[in-house]
Amino acid sequence: MPTYARLPVTFVKGEGALLWDTAGKQYLDALSGISVCNVGHARREVADAICAQANTLMHTSNLYHIEHQQALAEKLCALSGLDSVFFGNSGAEANEAAIKIARLYGHHKGVAIPTVVVMSNSFHGRTMATVTATGNVKSQTGFAPLVEGFVRVEYGDADAVAALAGNPNIVAVLVEPVQGEGGIRIPAADYLPRLRAICDQNDWLLMLDEVQSGMCRTGKWFAFQHTAIKPDVMTLAKALGNGVPIGACLAGGKAANVFGPGNHGSTFGGNPLACSAARAVIAVMEAEQLAEKAASLGDYFVTQFRAQLADVAGVREVRGSGLMLGIELEKDCAELVKQALEKGLLINVTAGNVIRLLPPLVITQAQADQIITTVVELVRAFV
Ligand SMILES: *Cc1c(COP(=O)(O)O)cnc(C)c1O
Repeated sequence: MPTYARLPVTFVKGEGALLWDTAGKQYLDALSGISVCNVGHARREVADAICAQANTLMHTSNLYHIEHQQALAEKLCALSGLDSVFFGNSGAEANEAAIKIARLYGHHKGVAIPTVVVMSNSFHGRTMATVTATGNVKSQTGFAPLVEGFVRVEYGDADAVAALAGNPNIVAVLVEPVQGEGGIRIPAADYLPRLRAICDQNDWLLMLDEVQSGMCRTGKWFAFQHTAIKPDVMTLAKALGNGVPIGACLAGGKAANVFGPGNHGSTFGGNPLACSAARAVIAVMEAEQLAEKAASLGDYFVTQFRAQLADVAGVREVRGSGLMLGIELEKDCAELVKQALEKGLLINVTAGNVIRLLPPLVITQAQADQIITTVVELVRAFV
């Protein structure tokens, strides 16, 4: 179905941050399939794990114990400080699990219409509940009736969340620590700590959508780790499997055991194939210290872009958290994607006027410089 307005290119091979199309033309990938291939294309360790597992056991069922799932869950809990995990196959599914946890948590407390606070410009997925949670009218248009049980406030405005304290139906706050689709929006440093305090005061769950910001992208394993707080629920997907579909909903403390047998499920979720791939991804990230690398290389990108675009009037702001990078222009700039493609560079434009870069965390310094040079050239010619 024509759900995507696709670019006129087909890639057939990848290696690290490089891709090749059907004609053999080489491209530098500064998008990673939207922050999926964080450890690079055709990553040997991940491919080996997938091949070995496919030759051993791909799928049983969550009716049985699964060694790789147990081990992956323990690893994710150790990395995040959370206590339990539900595995699905995508970011939307991970967020569906989070929303269901919030509702069940509310019903256990006797809340009549459990309601989740969500943000403007947010993105949480395309299923009915997650598209309702998403703060983008374009994604929602044509799909009414939407799902009940959400209230929306301005992203970055903790006071707006605090003002909801009198609403007895609120049970949780669902928020991205850095908004990805919304345009690489980075809230003030005290935003998450303030949301944490508000949630504590009101006995609400703080639920972080780290589907895009998680897995070393922002320079930490998870973006919330730039602060001293911990969420009650956190969702992951995208880079967790480096391209093998897997999503995870983690929970801690009072949220950890809200789900009991029969409350939620998935046929494929957490199967041996996906979990062995994710374990290999985490092993590479640890061995190559990709969080630290994303932090330092991200700072380099931001410094370079700010310096090299300082005199360009049409550039509104350069933003970055690790290798989650955005350049906001004064005017809409979707055509830059095609111009970059012609120059052999994959970039993305989101929120109309924000150039979004999410390069693989394994890119070399030379590749980083090549991205910077090409993007600066394109922006200068465009604005
Ligand atoms: C991509 C994304 C999702 C949706 O993930 P899917 O795997 O496409 O369902 C949800 N939340 C955020 C923040 C995302 O970036």
